[in-house]
Amino acid sequence: MKGNRSNLNKILLAAVSVLATASVAAADGEVNIYSYRQPDLIKPLLDTFTKETGITTNVLFLDKGLVERIQAEGVNSPADVIMTVDISRLVEAKDGGVTQPVVDNETINKDIPANFRDPAGEWFGLTTRGRVVYASKDRVGQDTITYEELADPKWKGKICIRDGQHSYNIGLFASMIAAHGEEYTEKWLKDFKNNLARKPAGGDRDQAKAILAGECDIALGNTYYVGLMQTNEKEPEQKEWAAAIKILFPNSADRGTHVNISGMALAKNAPNKENALKLMEFLASGEAQKIYGEQVFEYPVMPGAEPSDVVKAWGPIKADTLPLSDIAANRKKASELVDKVGFNEGPES
Ligand code: FE
Repeated sequence: MKGNRSNLNKILLAAVSVLATASVAAADGEVNIYSYRQPDLIKPLLDTFTKETGITTNVLFLDKGLVERIQAEGVNSPADVIMTVDISRLVEAKDGGVTQPVVDNETINKDIPANFRDPAGEWFGLTTRGRVVYASKDRVGQDTITYEELADPKWKGKICIRDGQHSYNIGLFASMIAAHGEEYTEKWLKDFKNNLARKPAGGDRDQAKAILAGECDIALGNTYYVGLMQTNEKEPEQKEWAAAIKILFPNSADRGTHVNISGMALAKNAPNKENALKLMEFLASGEAQKIYGEQVFEYPVMPGAEPSDVVKAWGPIKADTLPLSDIAANRKKASELVDKVGFNEGPES
């Protein structure tokens, strides 16, 4: 995803003022970041980190194969820190053996709730994104919804969604397994599939576009895409897609809306481990989360930390408190169920 460059100066200034009181640079050296996240999204924070500590940051941006690369580099890997989005990728790094634990770090644990940290300390989240319902402002009267309700026949032919195997959907389906068990989730997925307006396709933003076009009434999408559409000066037609929808935060009245995280991990053979830990502590702070979250239209994981004005305007989110590690544990089952019910083949009749 792309950042909102118009906010860059503002964020940079905020970052400087927030951290002006922090202790002044003591150590020198560098830290190497392997990132699935666009460098411009994290640059303002990294610049502030360098200003405060004297530690230079080097970002290697990859759009795939990050784990394989670190594996291939082996003990000589220059990677110190991994930054990515989605629990699937953090777990992939852990399972791929390219991370090492950071445990009992009081600075990190203070501002990162336990449900957003790996119990073994191999990764933690910095920001969250909700998997919400985009609903047509014109055609959907209700202002509340549950994930369970997506299987209700009243939505027949009215729902759009991207590929069922996409990690964003797998995370949600895994949370359904955690909440209701496998048997319920299989039936739910089957009924949900039969409510689809068309075969799963496109990205999350395409579903909002389809709502504007009248192809469906509701869709699943991540929260930050709404911010990206609302502020999109490069492709202003996306503002119209966003204007056609309202966000419904599913399950606000019970367990809360499913959220996923963007997060980080310490690389297994980090050559600059001390600097890496300094960077992790820096980014874990509630203030840094806030600035980072603002840049990417996400929510800081620290309880009570406010998101940006754009995000706040969507209304409050009550996040499901299910540990992300439980979601990770159910991902494989979720993926199997998607295939089993033929989710990606679309509705049966
Ligand atoms: Fe995305």
